[in-house]
Amino acid sequence: MLEIRNLRKSYGRNLAVDEVSFFVPDGQIGILLGPNGAGKSTIIKSIAGLLRYQGQIGIQEIPARQLEAKRIFGYVPEIPAMFEALTVREHIEYIRKAYASSITDEEVEALLERFELKDKQDKLGNELSKGMMQKVSICCALAIRPKVILLDEPMVGLDPRAIKELKETVRELRDQGVTVLISTHMLEMVEDLWDVMFVMEKGKIIGSYRKSEAGEKDLDDLFFEMTGGDEK
Ligand code: ATP
Repeated sequence: MLEIRNLRKSYGRNLAVDEVSFFVPDGQIGILLGPNGAGKSTIIKSIAGLLRYQGQIGIQEIPARQLEAKRIFGYVPEIPAMFEALTVREHIEYIRKAYASSITDEEVEALLERFELKDKQDKLGNELSKGMMQKVSICCALAIRPKVILLDEPMVGLDPRAIKELKETVRELRDQGVTVLISTHMLEMVEDLWDVMFVMEKGKIIGSYRKSEAGEKDLDDLFFEMTGGDEK
């Protein structure tokens, strides 16, 4: 589970996230929606421990700043960061060892196959395309066997097959009881993938919905209803 309570983050005088609270239970996919500049990445980076913030963030009820919480959560950043001198396989092995992950050799092979990295496994980090880096980043986050995983605009830069595999992977994680949070402004990419959605505007959550409450309405309808726009 992921719990955010009264999260507040300013950059100088700019209040980017204003007293935001939300909760995503075990085995559910939460999506964080909102226009450019709404504050989504600031929330994700706060959860990932990359920013100083005020408020509380809990990963499986453990404060996110604690090592115990960091051990069980995976993060796929919007812009992947590679180790230039490590190969694709070495990235995964490095993460696996650093986290003392219980992932098996067979599961690592299956991950490389799934994201079409097997024939790229000996390429160095600085020899990869943006999409390949994104796939390595996803594999590294999965290799720790996270209980909570954050994906920041994960579909950007991926080819259609990788998008399909990623969506399937996310559903499998949910079925295994993992908590998933996806930040995006590409509604069509997560249309069939959410359990609970949070819409942000100007640093605040202006509305949220559970899929079970949505009735006939699709994600587009709910999003534009909350943001006051009319896309149709
Ligand atoms: P996008 O969809 O464009 O990625 P976002 O919803 O992720 O947007 P944030 O990147 O969190 O939004 O930005 C929220 C606000 O914080 C914006 O006003 C932005 O200008 C500001 N901001 C973000 N990062 C910084 C930074 N490093 N320094 C100063 N201001 C920042």
